[in-house]
Amino acid sequence: MSRIVVLGGGESGVGAAILAKVKNFDVFLSDSGTLKENAKEMLCKYDIPFEEGGHTYEKILNASEIIKSPGIPETVPLIRELRRVNIPVISEIEFAGRYDNSKKICITGSNGKTTTTSLIYYLLKNAGLNVGLGGNIGQSYAFQVATEHHDIYVLELSSFQLDGMYDFKAHIAVLLNITPDHLDRYGHVMQNYINAKFRITQNMSREDCFIFCSDDEITVKNLNQIVLQAKKLPFSQNDKVSQGAYLDGDSMHVIYEESEYEMMIADLSLPGKHNIYNSMAAAITGKIMHITNKTIREALTSFKGVEHRMEKVMSVGNVMYINDSKATNVNSTWYALESVNTPIVLILGGTDKGNDYEPIADLVKEKVKAIICLGVDNKKIHDFFEDKVPYICDVTSAEEAVKQGAELSEAGDTVLLSPCCASFDLFKNYEDRGRQFKEAVKRL
Ligand code: ADP
Repeated sequence: MSRIVVLGGGESGVGAAILAKVKNFDVFLSDSGTLKENAKEMLCKYDIPFEEGGHTYEKILNASEIIKSPGIPETVPLIRELRRVNIPVISEIEFAGRYDNSKKICITGSNGKTTTTSLIYYLLKNAGLNVGLGGNIGQSYAFQVATEHHDIYVLELSSFQLDGMYDFKAHIAVLLNITPDHLDRYGHVMQNYINAKFRITQNMSREDCFIFCSDDEITVKNLNQIVLQAKKLPFSQNDKVSQGAYLDGDSMHVIYEESEYEMMIADLSLPGKHNIYNSMAAAITGKIMHITNKTIREALTSFKGVEHRMEKVMSVGNVMYINDSKATNVNSTWYALESVNTPIVLILGGTDKGNDYEPIADLVKEKVKAIICLGVDNKKIHDFFEDKVPYICDVTSAEEAVKQGAELSEAGDTVLLSPCCASFDLFKNYEDRGRQFKEAVKRL
């Protein structure tokens, strides 16, 4: 019996272990940290041996294949050792793809993955299709492949998952955009990160479709350098395209083969320029999947959005509070600022991943009346924005940030939590930050 060792016991690792067990492998799961209670329960239920709090090399180096969780970097000693002895290392998605003959719609990009994946899933569900949702979102793909059947999967793929993918093939691939992110995991070489993103196109053939943003220079430049058989379907807000989607004044046009779809941008339920892109990608996917224009329209006008992404919390004293806690890089905050049309009190800060704030300088000057720094070390924000906004202050909790927001704003303003930074200095994660923010707003 061949032996599969799964490294990392989060959602994807546990799912992969269960699938391997169901497929009769000798399975072992190893996690250097502590496992959650429900992860242990699942492993016991499926009779899968595991360890936590460290890796026992003898139980790992005898594997014929390793499934590595996306959070584990290449640089840890165990992975280096696996590379040295040439044991193949794959991702959960690669593994599950071997046992799944559904049609796979895969979404990647630096920003907008979860939103677009959820929107496409919502669209296909509304069209009455038997569709599953997986990847970086919700229940793991592998667990679903082990326990249920879907005709179609919509999968959110991070660059880390793509790194461990070789034979997997997407039928429809969406590449939303490429801006610098996670460079610490790519040897600080942008091209390595770009190459990881482009792995989404590998193995695609002529009947498959590649949907991409032709306004994104990095994407276009790199696309011109590879051989890709799939049909190329660009979306753009700057130029007209003959196949794909483009903006014409106030309306969005989608063309796939002979079939067309058109709708007013004002009717999209998700606001902002970035969501026009996301909606275009979803609409093209809908056309490829032969979904009627009526259903596409209904989905794009009724989709409620995803928690912590430009989520309207509530209006208090005619001040709108928006939770965009997921904006952990400068690019996503740019889109947040762009989409708000009132004066803004901006809550910024956290763990800075090496931010260059220059891209948002003009929007901040134009729209932001005060910055509230929500972080442990706010020096960089003070230094950069001091001469660009009338007022900057510091807080160390979501509660204080919201109170300051209420004080600094007046009727007609927006208090926007769009921090540009990760949250680990003061919060467990961005979800925790967003939830604490929302709770504090509700207490106002
Ligand atoms: P991801 O899953 O790639 O992190 P999300 O859908 O969770 O993306 O959105 C993350 C952040 O990026 C949010 O703050 C959102 O407002 C912003 N965003 C969403 N779509 C885009 C896009 N197409 N381009 C740039 N920023 C975007």
